[in-house]
Amino acid sequence: RSKLEGRGKYTVFVGSMMEDAKRKMQIAGAIEDAIRNNHFKVYYQPKVNADGHTMGYEALIRWIDEDLGFVSPAEFIPIAEQSGKISAITSWVMTRVFTELPDFVKENPNIKVSMNLSAIDIKNKSLFTEIQTKMSQYQVAAENIEFEVTESAYLENFEQANQVFSNLQKMGCTIALDDFGTGYSSLAYLTQISLDTLKIDKQFVDNLGHSDSSTLITSAIIDMANRLELQICAEGVETREQADFLISQGCQQLQGYFFGRPAPLEDVLSKYN
Ligand code: C2E
Ligand code: MG
Ligand code: MG
Ligand code: MG
Repeated sequence: RSKLEGRGKYTVFVGSMMEDAKRKMQIAGAIEDAIRNNHFKVYYQPKVNADGHTMGYEALIRWIDEDLGFVSPAEFIPIAEQSGKISAITSWVMTRVFTELPDFVKENPNIKVSMNLSAIDIKNKSLFTEIQTKMSQYQVAAENIEFEVTESAYLENFEQANQVFSNLQKMGCTIALDDFGTGYSSLAYLTQISLDTLKIDKQFVDNLGHSDSSTLITSAIIDMANRLELQICAEGVETREQADFLISQGCQQLQGYFFGRPAPLEDVLSKYN
């Protein structure tokens, strides 16, 4: 009996692994097609300061495939990374953001629009040149652009990342460390890297008021960022209580469904005041 049961489970397991591999291959193939046919979109999610004014937007890629339906970037970005397609996506997003930037700047000359870079982008030796070239091509002011990179992507490529990001900072761009607090335990590196903003991960914000340790760590991260003269942005803010607490602790930027969901350019601009 146990043998049969075991075999049954094995079949189910292998079956689901094959389904998984099949979906990954399907997605990798469809990404190529989506780039060629402009099937991606960029949505923008507001970031507000402590008095509720929108000071920036994060560009987040969206994709609805004809066969696969809505595919989350949390699913397809890692597949794009593994299948050598992330550089093309990054270029596509950058072009789109740079094209749409004048509409944001018209409403607020000091606006910051951020885009996400992956670990593979940082390894790409021509990243800085590409950014520089595109910025002059689209006449983008570097001061309006921020790049977000996760803590782990930065640290895995430390030398290269430091070089690219210090060059970008010299041009006038700012750099934000995404999902901060989830990756590494050592904080010593924080004083050695090219960085403007820490984005405290949503998991800490989620647990505010529910877990004493998350509340404590959140306060400590905000305090530390302020002492290091870094900006601090909280991601995934969903309630007034979370926002009030974060602001009371000295958090300068807030982002989350409470303030606005990611939306197409037309929708965020009409909401802007
Ligand atoms: P991320 O950069 O940490 O972006 C934050 C994610 O949290 C976004 O998910 C956003 O829609 C979501 N979010 C924001 N506020 C809330 C909230 O209040 N509640 C909840 N439940 N979620 C919230 P999204 O757009 O699905 O993106 C997931 C991840 O995919 C991003 O995490 C980023 O790592 C990656 N990604 C998205 N767009 C791009 C892109 O253009 N390039 C690259 N390389 N990665 C991207
Ligand atoms: Mg991000
Ligand atoms: Mg994030
Ligand atoms: Mg995150």
